[in-house]
Amino acid sequence: MTPKEILKKFYGYDSFRSGQAEIIDAAMQGRDSLVLMPTGGGKSLCFQIPALARDGFAVVVSPLIALMDDQTAALQANGIPAAAVHSGHNESDNRAVMEALFEGHIKLLYISPERLLQEIDRWSDRIPVNLFAIDEAHCISQWGHDFRPVYTDLARIKQKYPCVPIMALTATADRLCRRDIAANLNLADPFTWTGSFDRPNISLQVVNNPGMKNKMRLIASLIRKHPNDSGIIYCLSRKSAEEMTERINALGFRAVCYHAGMTTHERSAAQKAFINGTVQVVCATIAFGMGIDKSNIRYVVHNNLPSNIESYYQEIGRAGRDGLPAHAMLFYSMADMITLRNFAEESGRSSVSNEKLQQMLKFAQAGVCRRRILLSYFGETAAHDCGNCDICLNPPHRFDGTTLAQMALSASIRVGGKAGMYMLNDILRGSLKSDIRRLGFDRIKTFGAGRDLNVAQWNHYLSQMVQLGLFEIAYDESNHLHPTPFGMDVVYGRARIELARYVPEQTKDEKQRRGRIPALDVPTLSPEEELFEQLKTIRMAISQKDGIAPYMVFSDATLHDMAHRRPKTLEEMADISGVGERKLVRFGSRFIQAIRKFEGMTATLPQGSSMKQTLILYNSGMPVPEIARERGLSESTVYSHIAKLIGEDMITQFGTLLTRKQYEDILDIRRRYPDNYSDHLSERLRPLAGVAMAIYNYQQRHAAARTQNH
Ligand code: ADP
Ligand code: ZN
Repeated sequence: MTPKEILKKFYGYDSFRSGQAEIIDAAMQGRDSLVLMPTGGGKSLCFQIPALARDGFAVVVSPLIALMDDQTAALQANGIPAAAVHSGHNESDNRAVMEALFEGHIKLLYISPERLLQEIDRWSDRIPVNLFAIDEAHCISQWGHDFRPVYTDLARIKQKYPCVPIMALTATADRLCRRDIAANLNLADPFTWTGSFDRPNISLQVVNNPGMKNKMRLIASLIRKHPNDSGIIYCLSRKSAEEMTERINALGFRAVCYHAGMTTHERSAAQKAFINGTVQVVCATIAFGMGIDKSNIRYVVHNNLPSNIESYYQEIGRAGRDGLPAHAMLFYSMADMITLRNFAEESGRSSVSNEKLQQMLKFAQAGVCRRRILLSYFGETAAHDCGNCDICLNPPHRFDGTTLAQMALSASIRVGGKAGMYMLNDILRGSLKSDIRRLGFDRIKTFGAGRDLNVAQWNHYLSQMVQLGLFEIAYDESNHLHPTPFGMDVVYGRARIELARYVPEQTKDEKQRRGRIPALDVPTLSPEEELFEQLKTIRMAISQKDGIAPYMVFSDATLHDMAHRRPKTLEEMADISGVGERKLVRFGSRFIQAIRKFEGMTATLPQGSSMKQTLILYNSGMPVPEIARERGLSESTVYSHIAKLIGEDMITQFGTLLTRKQYEDILDIRRRYPDNYSDHLSERLRPLAGVAMAIYNYQQRHAAARTQNH
């Protein structure tokens, strides 16, 4: 089968996305490759399809043990033999998988790097591996944000199997990291694909120092805008994730919390509730979201500054996978900056981490199109401003801020550099807090010099002064602000600076509400949305009955396509994006029935549908007993379908149905006992009689046709 045929048959897709065909082609020709694509870009197909198209099997190395089982289950749901080996399974299960692998029953083996490195020493040189796929390949680099030392030992793959292609895949790798990947894996002249990282449908917004009340208002407006869809709020700590969950629930919305401190059971319950849509929001630490293929995430909020751009981009990338508008909102304050710096110091790789943090900060504090900053970080150049970020939509107004800066700098100098951001804010506004009195800061000349501005304004301007390099934060001295040499130039009037004017965050939602308060948010659904909701209910029922995640039944994108095109027969259903052969037969009729009902038609499928499902499975090479199991029918029913299909010339290959000897035995008994031959057949032969007769008639028919032609 060609890659394109595999795409349709197993995955139900009609065309490749940008890059996929080229990457697959390189692997088919045995060439190494380095694949950079954003989350959701479609990396998995790039190694799965060559694995299926070539003899042997592919080995997929992934560090995310929790995801391997999900991925193999998703593959199995598409009728692809895949299995996983890792420390989360017991040893006898792992051994059984390895045996099945060597017997040729598995096309994709997912394995942890630790385990692969153990196994590979034992493997013979002639083992039929057709590809090594290294997922999350950035883990190999010290420059990546998720360095894992065990990954560096993967260099041994190429030494042992110099002729097997390696495909390294990642969603996040800057230039240095890419170089490390190629070098450390010993890739030979790799085919390199860099997909565009642009996700133009995600609007970008950064809110500086919002304060809790503002945060909650902004979050509430996002939830209200998307009552039937969902969002993620990333929090820095478990505690803040829990608090945020409570706050959102207190507003009358439905939120759950997800973090590493919860039990596995609690976590999977939370994830389930999110995937099923029973909750609107999940408040999570970074542990959430990897591998979630949920296409209707409409917003991602960062409650704190992320520690690097790679993580930020990967996290916001979980929104809007269906290509429809989605929103990324980032809250940050100087306090985040200080917390993160401490994390970075503790991480033991402080210079790299700090550098990445600085880049993140630069993004948050940008005065130019934010998407341009992101894309340039990933090595792409954007020719235009995006028009879909807060800076583009609301360009900052700048003014000469030299006087304000001089005020702040001289206050800092007069207290001997002993004030941090918040203390300095108080001093400038002339606040008589007890600390200030105790330290005598209320007696300095600049005390209260800035009382015309409020807390939020000073916060905003002081942050900018730090960004502009007038102050540096003395992390080792209680985060006090110290004037820099450039700051001193400003104090003495040798340099001037500009500041962006403070604009209080005001949401459209708030403006609306000032006019009138809507009684109740009861969204009205369009017919298409209504059908979509019904299809989701069916998906849920199947998911519960079969014990597989809803998105493994069909993705939201697939249900949307169904709701839009409303397939009413199996043929039409096969045309829906994401409906491969296996799922067509296994789930298709349930959804067709619902759609037919929705259209006011009889729910029963058109005549012959059941036979067609048998035909599809038969053509995929599945033996009759398995077809019967898959379809929940008796074997004799399946055989009667097949006999009819032979009668209609729909099946013309009989090799797997019965042996030549069985066929001849049946005909022989029929000749001897023409009236009641089936009574004389053995248990084994009886179910095959109908098929044998159909084949006999088929051959008579075609022999007759042949003689007529002569
Ligand atoms: P990644 O691994 O890059 O994050 P995935 O491989 O999980 O992305 O793909 C993301 C989604 O896009 C999945 O639902 C996948 O089925 C879908 N997808 C991948 N390739 C195609 C394609 N050619 N046509 C339609 N959908 C696709
Ligand atoms: Zn922009």
